[in-house]
Amino acid sequence: MSNALVWLRRDLRDDDHAALYHALKRHTQVFVAFVFDTDILDALSDKQDRRLEFIWESVHALKQTLQAQGGDLIVRHGRAQEQIPALAQTLNVAAVYANKDYEPVAIARDDVVAQALLKTGQTLHLFKDQVLFEQDEVLTQTGKPYGVFTPYKNAHLAKLNAFYLKAYPVKKYLKHLAPVAPEPMPALELLGFARTNLAALRVPTGMAGAQQLFDDFLQRIDHYHDARNYPAVKGVSYLSVHLRFGTISIRQLAHAAWQLSLAGNAGAATWLSELIWRDFYFQILFHRQDLQQGRSYKPEYEALPFSNDADWFAAWCEGRTGFPIVDAAMRQLNQTGYMHNRLRMVVASFLVKDLLVDWRWGERYFAEKLIDFDFAANNGGWQWAASTGCDAQPYFRIFNPQAQSEKFDPQGRFIRKYVPELSGLDDQQIHAPWAEKFRKKGLFDKGLVLDYPVAVVDHAQQRELALWLYKNNVKQR
Ligand code: FAD
Repeated sequence: MSNALVWLRRDLRDDDHAALYHALKRHTQVFVAFVFDTDILDALSDKQDRRLEFIWESVHALKQTLQAQGGDLIVRHGRAQEQIPALAQTLNVAAVYANKDYEPVAIARDDVVAQALLKTGQTLHLFKDQVLFEQDEVLTQTGKPYGVFTPYKNAHLAKLNAFYLKAYPVKKYLKHLAPVAPEPMPALELLGFARTNLAALRVPTGMAGAQQLFDDFLQRIDHYHDARNYPAVKGVSYLSVHLRFGTISIRQLAHAAWQLSLAGNAGAATWLSELIWRDFYFQILFHRQDLQQGRSYKPEYEALPFSNDADWFAAWCEGRTGFPIVDAAMRQLNQTGYMHNRLRMVVASFLVKDLLVDWRWGERYFAEKLIDFDFAANNGGWQWAASTGCDAQPYFRIFNPQAQSEKFDPQGRFIRKYVPELSGLDDQQIHAPWAEKFRKKGLFDKGLVLDYPVAVVDHAQQRELALWLYKNNVKQR
């Protein structure tokens, strides 16, 4: 039997791994490699990037794990589309194995690699691993992709069973790892990046970090459906960055949630449906590759004439709009790279429908800042909030930031954490310190909140403008 190379990308683990399993099972000696791809790295303008540090730490941990099994993780720095064919030739392998990546740029890169390998008689084998169901596995009765979540979820759940959730038993075949002399790992600084506050934030990295978060979440999963909307409460799993870089398998997570939900666990059922949202947006992107060129999912909303006020956009980015819940959320994003899902919806709606800024501006800002940035979910989330995407609700769903704040952060605990200049306010005033009723009491002028801006816009007025803008600019099809 021949040798093979497994090329890791967004699947930084050595268990329940489709490509690794198939390679180890079919070949006598299997090499494993990861490339810090300069095509991606060079595009990052901020050289202090939490994602890079997360990946570096996770690759480092995996390298040690594979070394302990008698193999190694070969790490390269360069253009993946050149490095992988070159490595395949040097190692003289028959084939390269990898898990599918569904983003259009990744598909194009993989085509280039496949073509280069073909020239030397080598093959690129790609496997489903990142999702539960791929783009063509859950379709409508007429064979079309779903564009609305609830029917998609129902069809997804109807198809889901133990077969699709079974783990790939990689461990059984690890003896086929090629024994290579361990190579040192290039330091983060050598890749052109500096450390961030990731360690100070105590973000657990690698497979061990993912497992630790999942074990912790399993203790709380029963309450997920109640707790998940409150940003000051530890209600969600915080696993998104691990799902993004594959330090834990989607099958492992979904299997646990599926079994618990079959036993009547409402929290687990709700969480499973969040994992299905993830599949949903991957399949949308696959069928609508033009989304990566900034296209609106609903073509009739392609050219809404947003006013795009640069000062308002800067205030939003920096967390100084005068809307405490929006500012707290944006500061959380800037300081940690994470933002709670409820707040992602609130700030996205606020940017588009209160500040009348094009959703693509917000999408881009999130793409730079989010540690869990994933094109499919991010684009899906932004287009959902902007009513240009897969929302069954029409454009007149407009979040009221003050009402959202009162409902989901009733004591202002989350606001107090990220907007400490408001921490002296009471539970009512903290949601809208500039409100008329508080002004009348003179609270705003008593030196309590002088460091905090007055609201940049009037929500009620902007709401009317947004409704007008959408209503009068729908392109007839
Ligand atoms: P949990 O509540 O524990 O959910 C578990 C997992 O389910 C998540 O890790 C994620 O993989 C998946 N999931 C949950 N909600 C969604 C959703 N609405 N769409 C797709 N998958 C979901 N998620 C990203 O992973 N990357 C992004 O770039 C991203 N951008 C977003 C932008 C906007 C405007 C909005 C509204 C949502 C975005 N989301 C994104 C979805 C969601 O906010 C995050 O997945 C979630 O907040 C991550 O926290 P968690 O892991 O604790 O989530």
